[in-house]
Amino acid sequence: MSKRLLLLGASGNIGTQALDLLEKDSSYELVGVSVGSNLSFLENFLSSWKQSAITHVYLNGSEEDIARFRSLFPNVFFYRGEKGLGELVKDCPADYVLNAIVGFAGFLPSYVASSLGKTLLLANKESLVVGGALINEQLAAHHQKIIPIDSEHAAFAKCLDAAGGRPIDRFIITCSGGPFYRKTLSELSNVTPEAALSHPTWKMGKKITIDSATLFNKGFELVEAGYLFGIDPSSIEVRVDRRSHVHSAILLKDGTYLADVGPSDMHGPIGYALSLGKGHSGVIETKDLASIPGTDFEPFDAEESPAIQLVLQGYRLGGTALASLNAANEEAVHLFLEKRIPFLSIYEAARLSLSFPIVKEGDPRWGYEALSEADHAARAAIRKRYLEKP
Ligand code: NDP
Ligand code: MG
Repeated sequence: MSKRLLLLGASGNIGTQALDLLEKDSSYELVGVSVGSNLSFLENFLSSWKQSAITHVYLNGSEEDIARFRSLFPNVFFYRGEKGLGELVKDCPADYVLNAIVGFAGFLPSYVASSLGKTLLLANKESLVVGGALINEQLAAHHQKIIPIDSEHAAFAKCLDAAGGRPIDRFIITCSGGPFYRKTLSELSNVTPEAALSHPTWKMGKKITIDSATLFNKGFELVEAGYLFGIDPSSIEVRVDRRSHVHSAILLKDGTYLADVGPSDMHGPIGYALSLGKGHSGVIETKDLASIPGTDFEPFDAEESPAIQLVLQGYRLGGTALASLNAANEEAVHLFLEKRIPFLSIYEAARLSLSFPIVKEGDPRWGYEALSEADHAARAAIRKRYLEKP
């Protein structure tokens, strides 16, 4: 019997690659999707998708947009608004949710999916960065586990599977170094959005590409791995593989390294997640072993990266601290892309966010609302700081 799936962020970089695979995968029945503001993509998709009946859809649009879509597609339930993604996850008759939304907007649907015991295939790392503790409580209550799509985390999951319970010495996360590898902060003061968007190895959405240039992405990935695998994020070793062939590795106590090696093509990790970690075939191009370069990892000092240190500091503060940092980063990235602030202000915004009030775990106010309020307050503070003249 086919598995019913809800695909969130269908119009994005990961979402469209997931659709490439779902188009040919008869083990899934796609029943719902979400998009942000790309309504022409949605209209085109709903008119052309013939593999299954799409019954539930979220769009980030106005009441008029919803009315127009309802008249075009009368058999579909449409959702919008701040709580709409949560309602979509609740109502859509899917047991599997692939979340490829970018940013904090992806947290509510991940939280609702985990609270309902649905199987979550997760690309939206921000869900775990801002609310990993809340999501993990829900997963534990339903004996569920997230299936990661982020390439480093899919690599860890595969390596752990291969380790078969043998004792682990450490996790090693790889990093391409991004477009500004080996540049000092002072050399980055005048970089343009165009330069920051030219990632050496991966083609991704704009926000994660800037996060890769600042290295906030690597900081977020340490926290993501922490919640996924129950480890201390600061215990993970970061190594640079400029070609992104080694997607990550673990070192066993017996001295053996297990690594996931392959082309930098996100169809691989998405296919891994869709196979529910069981493995897939025909998704990525297989290369002859001789054509894959060796492991010429370069050393990397995570203590030298302000982004990684700020994220780890936020993690240690706990509660809503990383929700504030994530929101400050999202706003600052947005302002940088609009050429309203320089690149280095992204670090300044994140640093500032760690001084914002924190609601801690155990406080009666702790929960989704506290995270959402911290997100809103941090965005407002960052916009005020950079857009209002004193
Ligand atoms: P994109 O920007 O390409 O796509 C983001 C998706 O989220 C789009 O469908 C967009 O809709 C939707 N979206 C944006 N804002 C909102 C909102 N407020 N409400 C509802 N939907 C919204 O990003 P990516 O595909 O690159 O990344 C998606 C996630 O996957 C991120 O969390 C990223 O960190 C993670 N990831 C991505 C990788 C990659 O290779 N791209 C690798 C590893 C992780 P629309 O375009 O219609 O506005
Ligand atoms: Mg990654």
